[in-house]
Amino acid sequence: MQRFPCPFCGLRDETEFHFAVEAGQARPEPAGAVSDQDWSTYLYENASPKGPAREVWLHLTCGEYFILTRDTVTREVIGTEPLPGVAE
Ligand SMILES: [Zn+2]
Repeated sequence: MQRFPCPFCGLRDETEFHFAVEAGQARPEPAGAVSDQDWSTYLYENASPKGPAREVWLHLTCGEYFILTRDTVTREVIGTEPLPGVAE
């Protein structure tokens, strides 16, 4: 089992985490004016880079979202950080 370091709680089992979104994706606005195709692309299509990737994850135990940087090939966790604007 893989373990991820929550920036608030420390190292925990992967079963305590849920992938949210690739970091850096901007929500299209205004949402009411966005086409169905563009909204679908925003919700369901990911770049899924091979190698280092920055992703937003939720730690289900503490309820905090954070950025996890990991290598998608080696599964190495490169680092974690709180979302911008969230105090540690
Ligand atoms: Zn946590």
